[in-house]
Amino acid sequence: MNLPPSSMNHLRSSTAPIDGTGSNSAHASPVVKSSHVSFEFFPPSTERMEQTLWESVQRLKMLNPRFVSVTYGADGSTRDRTHAIVKKIMRETDLTVAPHLTCIGASRGEIRELAQEYWEDGVRHIVALRGDLPKGTQASDLPRDGYRYASELVADLKSVADFDITVAAYPETHPEAQSARDDLENLKRKFDAGASRAFSQFFFVTEHFLRFRDRCSLYGIEDKIVPGILPVSKFDQAERFAGMCGTEVPSWLRSRFAGLDDDADTRQLVAASVAIEQVTELFKSDIRDFHFYTLNRANLTYAICHTLGVRPTTKLTGDTVS
Ligand SMILES: Cc1cc2nc3c(=O)[nH]c(=O)nc-3n(C[C@H](O)[C@H](O)[C@H](O)COP(=O)(O)OP(=O)(O)OC[C@H]3O[C@@H](n4cnc5c(N)ncnc54)[C@H](O)[C@@H]3O)c2cc1C
Repeated sequence: MNLPPSSMNHLRSSTAPIDGTGSNSAHASPVVKSSHVSFEFFPPSTERMEQTLWESVQRLKMLNPRFVSVTYGADGSTRDRTHAIVKKIMRETDLTVAPHLTCIGASRGEIRELAQEYWEDGVRHIVALRGDLPKGTQASDLPRDGYRYASELVADLKSVADFDITVAAYPETHPEAQSARDDLENLKRKFDAGASRAFSQFFFVTEHFLRFRDRCSLYGIEDKIVPGILPVSKFDQAERFAGMCGTEVPSWLRSRFAGLDDDADTRQLVAASVAIEQVTELFKSDIRDFHFYTLNRANLTYAICHTLGVRPTTKLTGDTVS
């Protein structure tokens, strides 16, 4: 399908104030009832990291997320740790948990067996991914009894059980794609195979996401693309991640963090303001669902959600907030 020239839909802006009160007063309290959030965690590799993860889960669960997801090593390297954390969150909280599942390097039999095991454990939601290709290989080098692309994985998971499936989307185009159009057609294939929504790769130039959403509208999937928000607490780390996945790092972002390498407190404040600006801009463009790459830390994500009006329904003591 040919894409028309970029439309201007991304400029559409909600007249509703972000506070959701019906008032345009700059002083209105920010309470928005319609925003929905989800949180991504990764499996910790040390006891100390596990402690941090667990504290973050306890804090963020109060925000009543739609679900939380747990990442998976591309080569299956975190399989047991991912599985263990998923089971622990399910056992000890009432959160809905979605394990990520990458298929590169695994046979179809192995993936089906794992999916069956998840289903029997009560998992109903999976984030289905292909995983990065090992260095020096191409998709055509992958074994025929495995998977080359995530769309094949989605179809196979659906044949095992009726999972609710989330896939990945790339506002700035996946680095391996021949073109933005090819990448979008791949995304549509993942929806056709049974996916319900896509989480986007993180982005810092909000315009890239909004234009991408417009392009998705040509396929009728614009409302199923949930922006992935990466609150930046360590700029050099975020820049490294961005380099790996082709995310543009604008000069204004670099300059906001310049000189703060040894000043964690100020960095946190700057990080919160950058991410709050981003979600506010998205909210004003009618976006209500947000997925957060928490990096297993709760504070920034909690503050950003608060600004979106996503608040706890229970106090830490367990009391209901009136
Ligand atoms: C929200 C999110 C979560 C992630 N979680 C993890 C994780 O837990 N673990 C992990 O290892 N990685 C994770 N990743 C990274 C992901 O695994 C990589 O980006 C990977 O390179 C692509 O995975 P995919 O599922 O998007 O692949 P696919 O959708 O299969 O796409 C891969 C590439 O192939 C192209 N393509 C697809 N079909 C065809 C076709 N038929 N012909 C030609 N080209 C085609 C696509 O355009 C794209 O360039 C995550 C990414 C995101 C955005």
